[in-house]
Amino acid sequence: MATNEEKKADAATTGTETFEFQTEAWQILDLMINSVYSNKEIFLRELISNASDALDKLRFESQTNADLTKFTADPYIRLSRDMEARTLSVTDNGIGMNREDLTKFLGTIAKSGTKEFLANVQAARESGTADNVDLIGQFGVGFYAAFMVADEIEVVSRRAGEDKAWLWKSTGDGTYSIAEAERAEPGTTVTLKLKPMTEANGMEDYTQDWTLREIVKKYSDFVGYPIRMEVTRTEYDYDDQGKRIEGTEHAKTTDETLNSMKAIWMREDKDVTEEEHKDFYRHISHDWHDPMKHILQKAEGMHEFRALLYLPSEPQQDLFFRDSTSVGVSLYIRRVFIMNDCKDLIPEYLRFVRGVVDSEDLSLNLSREMLQKDAQIAAIRKGVTKKLFDTFKQMMKKEPDTYFDFWKKFGKLIKEGLFLDHDNMDELFKFCLLPTTRRAAEDDKDAAPWEKAGFTTLDDYVARMKPEQKDIYYITGKTPAAVAESPHLEALKSREIECLLLSDHVDEVWTGAAHEYKEHHFRNASKGELELGTEEERKKEKEELDKASEAAKPLFEALAKPLGENIKEVRYGARLTDSAACLVGETWDATPQLEAMMRAMGQEVPKTKRTLELNPNHPVVKKMSELFASNADDPRLADYAQILYGQAILAEGQPLDNPAEFNKALAELLK
Ligand code: ADP
Repeated sequence: MATNEEKKADAATTGTETFEFQTEAWQILDLMINSVYSNKEIFLRELISNASDALDKLRFESQTNADLTKFTADPYIRLSRDMEARTLSVTDNGIGMNREDLTKFLGTIAKSGTKEFLANVQAARESGTADNVDLIGQFGVGFYAAFMVADEIEVVSRRAGEDKAWLWKSTGDGTYSIAEAERAEPGTTVTLKLKPMTEANGMEDYTQDWTLREIVKKYSDFVGYPIRMEVTRTEYDYDDQGKRIEGTEHAKTTDETLNSMKAIWMREDKDVTEEEHKDFYRHISHDWHDPMKHILQKAEGMHEFRALLYLPSEPQQDLFFRDSTSVGVSLYIRRVFIMNDCKDLIPEYLRFVRGVVDSEDLSLNLSREMLQKDAQIAAIRKGVTKKLFDTFKQMMKKEPDTYFDFWKKFGKLIKEGLFLDHDNMDELFKFCLLPTTRRAAEDDKDAAPWEKAGFTTLDDYVARMKPEQKDIYYITGKTPAAVAESPHLEALKSREIECLLLSDHVDEVWTGAAHEYKEHHFRNASKGELELGTEEERKKEKEELDKASEAAKPLFEALAKPLGENIKEVRYGARLTDSAACLVGETWDATPQLEAMMRAMGQEVPKTKRTLELNPNHPVVKKMSELFASNADDPRLADYAQILYGQAILAEGQPLDNPAEFNKALAELLK
């Protein structure tokens, strides 16, 4: 019952070469062959999904390569089967694969999470749990899933725009072969030699009409290309009274389209089941986790469009650098697929969002270059962004636990928006959760889940500010522990003033760009003056400090000398209550973390010299003053200086510039 496309693909082959699978690919494949996984039918979903992607790719490439346009007239996916030979084929007239593609795509696995998946399977096997069965269902195993139901797989493919076709073949024995083949039109045919049906292996008959129809309906109904199959029915002739005439039975073959092709985003939200969302999400995102949430947007008026967006439940591995494999948000125009990962539809810092946008108004001839400048695309982007912001705010109120989970996974990206999307900064702050020195009690019924974990919103922070407090205090550092324990916080803590504890890379950047929120300035607790307390208190404090400093000037010089170029100066400060010393930058200085980041990115940055601020009331500082008073040349003063400087650096979680010197000074003093 092979179709024409297939017959041509079945032509003779020559020059066979044999290859070995990449180790990971072979491990996955081996797992599939020996799988007792009961949900075998998902293999068809995977093959149809690949075929649909291939049609998308051809459509997309034809937009910039006019030679390919002629192949896009009738995109289709076709199932064909041979009941006697027990084969099932999935054919598409999409982009196709050349020889290199076949080795690259079908001989290796580039999917993120493969190692993790294989390790889980290994662990499950070793511990004797049968969990590995479920693992297959959770991991998008793709093409290799076909080895659950087939003893042998043949792929005949021709890349659109190329003349040669290739036959890829494997029985799953660790090797595959590639040979030249023939194929009249570009596209791919995957033919499975189905395993025999036994009671033990749970194989269904994947050559039967109704079995295939059911599977397509279940997993692939929304696929935007027709999934066709030739179906043969027995028909009879009827007489005038409508009675069947015996002996007139004959077979009638018709071409049926098995899927409704109804775009899921065009349906009413209430009519789409969770299962359908899961299947659709998996289809567009290639993510084997279920989505965290779906968002359906219907925009009417000036720009009419629909968007169906998904928040993933786990961050994808390539989130932090964008590459061509990103999935992002696809653009459709009136149900016609235009492109994947349309970066103009969504701000870059929301790149974790997956989904589709379908516009009613855009012109189908829109070129990629025009996209960026197009006013309608800009309006859609604005609308989609607002919808997402509203969703986040809603989630905070209605599903706080989910939101907190979401924030922990994607908050770092959203914080990029604080400097990339300056216009929306205040809006973004409404749903940013920032770690702070305040933590709500576990049994506090009114507290949000993030408050119990030591996070706050800026609105809540501002609402809790002390009457005399003008600024929003924050500190940045390398790790959560380093900022939480920083000596720079001592004066704030003693006055019970809250301070944001920021330790993500991105925090260094946005705090440099954000100046104020609700008319309160952001103030880094490790830089400049802290200006705590009332005006009067500050005046008194300054007078006392000035007086003590005046007297201690020679000591400052004696301590600064051995530290040389490392510091700007030594002085007394009001920042510390428990520690002896800390390093303080000027208000506009780069923080050491920012400097380190810029160096890591290959930029030449001069080292910012900071001030070593001493706590005049600390016993160690007092002791030094005494030493200095009795002998200004006491060699121990230099050791003290090294140690105080070293400690201040260590307290920030930074590595010492010269650990040997620090150790030597410490050893000397311990003597
Ligand atoms: P995934 O689809 O998740 O990337 P698969 O193992 O299913 O993983 O497929 C690997 C790759 O093989 C695909 O990304 C695609 O490049 C290629 N491929 C598979 N099937 C087809 C097809 N029918 N047409 C063109 N390319 C295909």
